[in-house]
Amino acid sequence: MLKSKMLALLISISLLLLGCTSTGAVDSKETVSNQIETSPVINAKAETAKADVSASGITKLAAAVKGTLKVHFIDVGQGASQLIVSPNGKTILIDAGNNDKEELIVKYLKKENVKKIDILIGTHPDADHIGGLDAVIDNFDVGKIYMPKIQANTETFKDLLSSIQKKGLKVTTAKSGLVLDWEKDINVEMIAPVGTYDDTNEMSAVIHLTYGSNSFLLTGDAEALSEADILKSKVNLKSDVLMVGHHGSKTSTSTNFLKAVNPKYAVIQVGKGNKYGHPTEEVLKKLNDKKIKIYRNDTQGNIIFSSNGKDITVKSEKAGVVTQKPTAKPTVKATTKPTPKATAKPTSKPAVVQGDVYYKNCTAVRDAGADPIYEGDPGYSSKLDRDGDGVACE
Ligand SMILES: [Zn+2]
Repeated sequence: MLKSKMLALLISISLLLLGCTSTGAVDSKETVSNQIETSPVINAKAETAKADVSASGITKLAAAVKGTLKVHFIDVGQGASQLIVSPNGKTILIDAGNNDKEELIVKYLKKENVKKIDILIGTHPDADHIGGLDAVIDNFDVGKIYMPKIQANTETFKDLLSSIQKKGLKVTTAKSGLVLDWEKDINVEMIAPVGTYDDTNEMSAVIHLTYGSNSFLLTGDAEALSEADILKSKVNLKSDVLMVGHHGSKTSTSTNFLKAVNPKYAVIQVGKGNKYGHPTEEVLKKLNDKKIKIYRNDTQGNIIFSSNGKDITVKSEKAGVVTQKPTAKPTVKATTKPTPKATAKPTSKPAVVQGDVYYKNCTAVRDAGADPIYEGDPGYSSKLDRDGDGVACE
């Protein structure tokens, strides 16, 4: 008995060695695992050896990926949330919309039969992204949490931290260069933030996900500065599906960035009649010029991409008239200077509106719920209005 164990152990060790050096190991593995069936302990070792063989890439040739990967762009109105489900049912949730979308998100996840969020990512601390995350943490098992190293002085952010604490979870810093440990055959790479930025949007965690020959780029609210740094970092950006940065604001989706991503499909997570004028005509034009098919939550509801590693199919909740041309909606257009009408202004103005209001950056403006600020309004400054269109922090 002991002798046979020793023999099997020897064989599995030599298999490991062979697996690292020779393709012949793949065939011999079958025979070896038959021989060691007698001992469950050693058999477990053989399993590891097998996994090693394929991890070393030797069987990669035949490793046509199996099953369907799904990427849900959940309709949270003006905000963002993406649920990724692997063929084996593993999950990643990126953002969860605003506070008032908590119930919607929890319901959505339950309807999709999600029991556990293996990886939870809060791209950046703005309320339209992290608002619903506390409810997700309260209601589901959570594996790992990633958030960038930037804080917000808001109740929403505090709520999130307290939910994380209550569950005894730890936050891992989101930054470029991380390869997330999620699912074999699916590569999940964090490609931003590359540096440190004052603006919360620029600190957004950006995810590039590859399954077989299909890929997705999920960008949070990263803007031109982060996009330029991502380009400089020389990562592979090519993607079939691009989640358009910052809800289609013209401060994102810079020309060179879009060129590098070169997507077939674009998804804009945006709410109907939002006060920011998202998505902007500039961005829609860029996408249309490249004949990229556009999907939008405001017109199509929930949008679900399925990939078998080769082909991508798209389903949307509402049969969705996909408007390839920007519709001439009476929303505030970025090109025309909006008259500071009472209706176009945010309802939740900061308490201090009299006299001089000074905001250090757009993060502070968003924290105060004062975004966007129109020229002539308290708190407006040309420094905050980077594109000089008369609307700051749009
Ligand atoms: Zn946002």
